[in-house]
Amino acid sequence: MSFESLGLALPLLKAIADAGYTTPTPIQAQAIPAVMQGGDLLAGAQTGTGKTAGFTLPMLHRLSIGEPVLNKRGKPAIRALVLTPTRELAAQVEESVKTYGKYLPLKSMVMFGGVGMQPQINRLRDGVDILVATPGRLLDHAQQGTLDLSQVQMLVLDEADRMLDMGFVHDIKKVLAMLPAKKQSLLFSATFSDDIKNLADRLLNAPALIEVARRNQTNESIAQKVHPVGRERKKELLAHLIKTGNWQQVLVFTRMKHGANRLTDYLNDQGISAMAIHGNKSQGARTKALAEFKTGDLQVLVATDIAARGIDIDQLPHVVNFELPNVSEDYVHRIGRTGRAGALGEAVSLVCVDENGFLREIEKLIKREIPKEIVPGFAPDPSERAEPIVLGRMILNPNGSRSTSGGGGGGRGGRPGGGGGGGGGGGGRSSAPRGAGGHAPHGSRDGGAPRQAAPQGQRPGGGGGGGRPAGGGGGGRGGNPGTRSSPPKR
Ligand code: AMP
Repeated sequence: MSFESLGLALPLLKAIADAGYTTPTPIQAQAIPAVMQGGDLLAGAQTGTGKTAGFTLPMLHRLSIGEPVLNKRGKPAIRALVLTPTRELAAQVEESVKTYGKYLPLKSMVMFGGVGMQPQINRLRDGVDILVATPGRLLDHAQQGTLDLSQVQMLVLDEADRMLDMGFVHDIKKVLAMLPAKKQSLLFSATFSDDIKNLADRLLNAPALIEVARRNQTNESIAQKVHPVGRERKKELLAHLIKTGNWQQVLVFTRMKHGANRLTDYLNDQGISAMAIHGNKSQGARTKALAEFKTGDLQVLVATDIAARGIDIDQLPHVVNFELPNVSEDYVHRIGRTGRAGALGEAVSLVCVDENGFLREIEKLIKREIPKEIVPGFAPDPSERAEPIVLGRMILNPNGSRSTSGGGGGGRGGRPGGGGGGGGGGGGRSSAPRGAGGHAPHGSRDGGAPRQAAPQGQRPGGGGGGGRPAGGGGGGRGGNPGTRSSPPKR
């Protein structure tokens, strides 16, 4: 199949040719005709499948053949709105809009928090056909009366599952209430929790259903490997792998922000150029790190899960899980950064004895065993025993109680199965530290300073009332400390 056969407008075909794409990816082959026909769409697609062009191209096509709509000032009114969970993803989606729409007379704009409002207000005044935004800043503008969404004809919710995980459900509802009832709506999500299904039921009208890669399946073009290693030797092993393998562009995941900072310092000390990207970093620092990483000037980018959402680098060769995620689905998202659009990639996980429970859950989720390979000189000490994973100085127990590290109730020094004992808690939400009313503090709603993620009880495979899959309140999962069930801050 070719892009020409999909019936896209000529200026789009020209831009696609400039981008060097010859064949639509499976999601594009299905989504483009469905969206061009004007119907709603519910698409299950992970990042890396080409989903962005899957909605951007038909959106541009429809806008280009439709009548331009002018606002009261005689400038283009917003006809298409794309909502994304993070600033990075918003920036990248708008970049795609610009790339594919470069031969069309349509204006696009990206809008997110962490930067001044006034330049955005000025930009809005000039007229915008396509707005790509994170929900928090969008609402800030709406509340100030600087944004008019009354002419929106197309709405895209990109990575809707992540938006819900990040607590944007109220914001999304508020945005939906500001849009015309009659519009074309597209919802993209990598996973389908009940919350996503509810949102889809409310928003979509007889949608076309497309699912390209089965949920929670990892991409076949990614070579996955686990290197078992001692807890204290991970940094050394990472530097060794980067140096001996001559890895030039490596995305490394850590669970927590301070871990990302410490690792970055270590790598720089070893002569490996590295920068961290996470919610505590200013937007300027994040943009700089990402730009340098993309051009190859920066060898290693160390990221937490939420900060890494939306990072899109063509053919990223190496993804390293310095620490396994405690949310199994994040593993799939993480390694989706490599092996993109058919390119070969390698995803390695450095796993210490504390993380064996996480590893088992991940293997269960992706329905395959990940090959284990000990790197010579880095074999783990067989006498090393699993310890609880401590979140800063605080240990959050599955029954919602808290203890400090070294304290009772299964703190550091507690042995697997010794902590918790609270009977599994009342679902993942109860043990997650949340902002007041479950709503993010003002100013952080745009994904720049992500809130506590993952109401676990709602994720597929999350285990219903038991909350986190790894861990478990009864301390019954062999080798997995009971205290581990609380998700850490990212
Ligand atoms: P996405 O899933 O939208 O994040 O896209 C993943 C990557 O695939 C991006 O780097 C795109 O530039 C690239 N891509 C999208 N469509 C195609 C295509 N038809 N052929 C080759 N690469 C593509």
